[in-house]
Formats: sequence, structure tokens, C-alpha cells
Amino acid sequence: MRIFEPHAHMFSRVTDDYERMAAAGVVAVLEPAFWLGQPRTTVGSFVDYFSSLLGWERFRASQFGVRHFCTMGLNPKESNNPKLADEVIALLPRYLNKEGVVAIGEIGFDDQTDAEERSLVQQLQLAREHDLPVLIHTPHRDKKRGTIRTIEVVRRAGFPEERVLIDHNNEETLPIVLETRCWAGHSIYPNTKVDEQRMAALVRKYGADRIIINSAADWGISDPLKVPKTLAVMRTKGIPEEMIEKIVWHNPVAFFGQTGRLDVADLTERPAIDRQKKFENNSVLRGEQITAAR
Ligand SMILES: [Zn+2]
Repeated sequence: MRIFEPHAHMFSRVTDDYERMAAAGVVAVLEPAFWLGQPRTTVGSFVDYFSSLLGWERFRASQFGVRHFCTMGLNPKESNNPKLADEVIALLPRYLNKEGVVAIGEIGFDDQTDAEERSLVQQLQLAREHDLPVLIHTPHRDKKRGTIRTIEVVRRAGFPEERVLIDHNNEETLPIVLETRCWAGHSIYPNTKVDEQRMAALVRKYGADRIIINSAADWGISDPLKVPKTLAVMRTKGIPEEMIEKIVWHNPVAFFGQTGRLDVADLTERPAIDRQKKFENNSVLRGEQITAAR
């Protein structure tokens, strides 16, 4: 079964991850712009990071037969640095119409501060101006309150709910999100949050409509194979194939494709792997390059 991994920070991962993901059926990966583990001190770091997501990382994925898309945005945590936040918000429009950008994200709440809300509102406005959906992160602490507050902000902004993916849901927040027209993402982590078994139970209870799952693989303890692993567990629990396919393929493709930025026809084939290819004079080859030149 083809898999669209709708949330993985591949910037932080190694080539083995791409190889294993491709072997497990991952055809396309969406990389949301996020923080980097430690706070950035200048807007120039964002310029280079955004450029990497559109350039080297997209190229690197293609060298393993995986299509790469991204979302651009100012994350909640760094929204709390007011000077930097203003500079990044001003920078964003330069990137929003680039090829491969299919939404604004990850935006939303972390500590649930007023500065985070301000940056969320500003980016909902940018999404409206650029005809993009939004990927919204929900806080790890006090998640229920953060989810409700997120929905209130979206409604107050008059942003179309069907263009909102609220991510990192759990048993407590999913029913709240399903009462709206927003889509509901779930990050399957090795030790915390929702695991494969709990996710399968949620699907049995609520069905597959607007349900999305991801690995949220990043710099911490996480597993880029969590989508294929959850798929396997859903099968053992007797969840029908059409429902599983909807969750791991049709839903993310429909959500990120709804404003026409995702070339759905193009997704049916894997990119051809040509490792002699270079991006700005760099390739994924190391020793092999020297051997090939001899
Ligand atoms: Zn993330």
C-alpha cells in the first residue's frame, strides 16, 4: 500500500531513514518547518533552513525515490521572540509560492502565550492571502485547553475549517476536533502519546473520515516507520483495507491537495533515482563518487 507520510522532519534524519521508509511503502513525505531543538538567534538561520527544505532536502529525498513537500511557517516556540517573530513573518511570503510548498505550518500553541496567538492569527491571514491550508501543532502540556483555544482562534479569524489540520491529537482531543470540520492528525511516538494500538482503537471507534496519522520523526526519540507500523497493527485489528488506505494515503493527499498545490497525478510514480545528479554541486554519494570517476 502506498503511504503519504504527512509529518516528518527529515532535515534531522539520516539516509538510512529514507531507505527504510521507501522500502516500507512511503512514496511521499511532507516536512513541516519547525524549530531545530535550540532557539535560532537571527532571521538568517530561517532563510537558510527554509531554503534547505526547498532545495537540498527535496533533492535528497528524490535520491531515495521519495517525493518531498513542505510547509512553511513560524513555529509556536520561536513566536515568543518578538523581534525574530516579526522578521520571520515578514520573510514568509517570499517562500509561500515556491514549488513544493503545500501549506503553512507548523503554527499554533506551545506555551499558549499571547505572542503565540498573535503569530497564529498572522499566519492564518497569510494562508488566506496565499490560498493555502494550515498545519497546526497542539501543545504537549495542557493539550485539551490548547486544542479548544486553537479552534476558537480559527473561528474568530473566519478561516475555513476544512483547510485546517489540527495535529498531535489524542483520545481526549480527537472528539473535540471531529465536532468541527477540521482534519485530525495523530503522531505515533515510540514511548509517549498515541501508539499503534491506541491509534487502531481510535479508528475503530471514530472511523477514517478526516483522520491522518504521522511519525512526527524529528531530533528526539521518534520512529520514521511509525505510519507503516500502525498500518500493520490496524490490519491485525481487522480494520478494512479501504479505511486504512484512506488514512495513510487518500486523506493526506486530499488535505494537502485541496488548493491545487499538490500534483496528485505526479504522485503515482516514484521519482527515478539518479545518484550521479547533483544539487548545487553536492550529491548523496561519498566514496562511490571517487570510484565512479576512476
Ligand atoms: Zn513536527
